[in-house]
Amino acid sequence: MTIRRRQFLLAAASVSVAASGISTAEGAQKKIPLRCVGVEEHFSIPEIVAAMRSANRVYSNDLDIEYLYATAPADLAQTEAALVDFETLRLPAMDQAGVAKQVLSLTAPGVQVFKPDVALEFARLANDRVAEVVKRHPDRFAAMVALPPQDPQGAVAEMERGIQKLGFNGFIINSHTHGEYLDQAKFWPILEAAQALDRPIYIHPRSPSPAMAAPMTDYNMSGALWGFGVEAGTHAVRLIASGTLDRFPKLKVVFGHMGEAIPYWLSRLDINAVPGADSRIKNQLLPSEYFRRNLWIAVTGMPDPLVLQYCVKKIGADRILWSTDYPYAPAAPAVQLLDDAGLTDAQRELISHRNAESIFHLT
Ligand code: MN
Repeated sequence: MTIRRRQFLLAAASVSVAASGISTAEGAQKKIPLRCVGVEEHFSIPEIVAAMRSANRVYSNDLDIEYLYATAPADLAQTEAALVDFETLRLPAMDQAGVAKQVLSLTAPGVQVFKPDVALEFARLANDRVAEVVKRHPDRFAAMVALPPQDPQGAVAEMERGIQKLGFNGFIINSHTHGEYLDQAKFWPILEAAQALDRPIYIHPRSPSPAMAAPMTDYNMSGALWGFGVEAGTHAVRLIASGTLDRFPKLKVVFGHMGEAIPYWLSRLDINAVPGADSRIKNQLLPSEYFRRNLWIAVTGMPDPLVLQYCVKKIGADRILWSTDYPYAPAAPAVQLLDDAGLTDAQRELISHRNAESIFHLT
């Protein structure tokens, strides 16, 4: 874990910024308080924390594991304690920062590093555990279904159970699974289920797939510094260029970190992925057109007003969700971002909660 992420974590425990949604940065101009609903908010369970340390249960022993163990033991312990907690640390931190609700997701790399049978068992356990938390605090928490893409049949069954029986609101997938991506036919049942259940898949970063990893290692670039974004952004472009979003036209997909750089690249993608111009590029719409139909982004880890302004202008305030990346980043800068980006109150309401409530069917 990088020093910056450790500092974020420490700051999260003792955040002192009053984050009511009322900006002091712009002097007298008070903005209406916002209901902040975070859509990239992580948890784990002790069993999975322990299993990550057990090599015989992990079959994808890649950079995520190295990244985990590169963290200083005290920092790792603090992160793990924050991840498995819901009420002692998390709720007070949410109250202090002005976070109304977290849509919880099992932290990366999720169950995707485990052998298929173990992965399904852990996904079920994590989903059962977090369902109890949501049941205790339905006004403060919602949840995404953890699932094992390495077992597509088991994944679909768990997706259906998660939405229909547990009342969850979306699905979390941490980018590649053992070097494979969701456009590949073996994963289509998962995309079909997400479309049929009408809930979004949140494609969260993890360290780059083995084929992409080599240039990321010698300067510790595989994580939040660079590798996470390149990995998840590559996944986004694969979903577009493969025609996967044409095969599943009602699929809803969310990318964090301001869209993993895709909004910045969008005009270049449109120039180079014109439908029909290259037989290997399969998309039927322009890449920018998928942002009006299938794709949403979240502001995670990018508290930069200029970037948010750009994304609002490029893809629209109705495609942007709010998030904090708990417990890896403090909430206060993400709250402040909503006041500092020169947005209208209608745009602030869309981004802070209305878009999330709509696509995740939050009540
Ligand atoms: Mn995250």
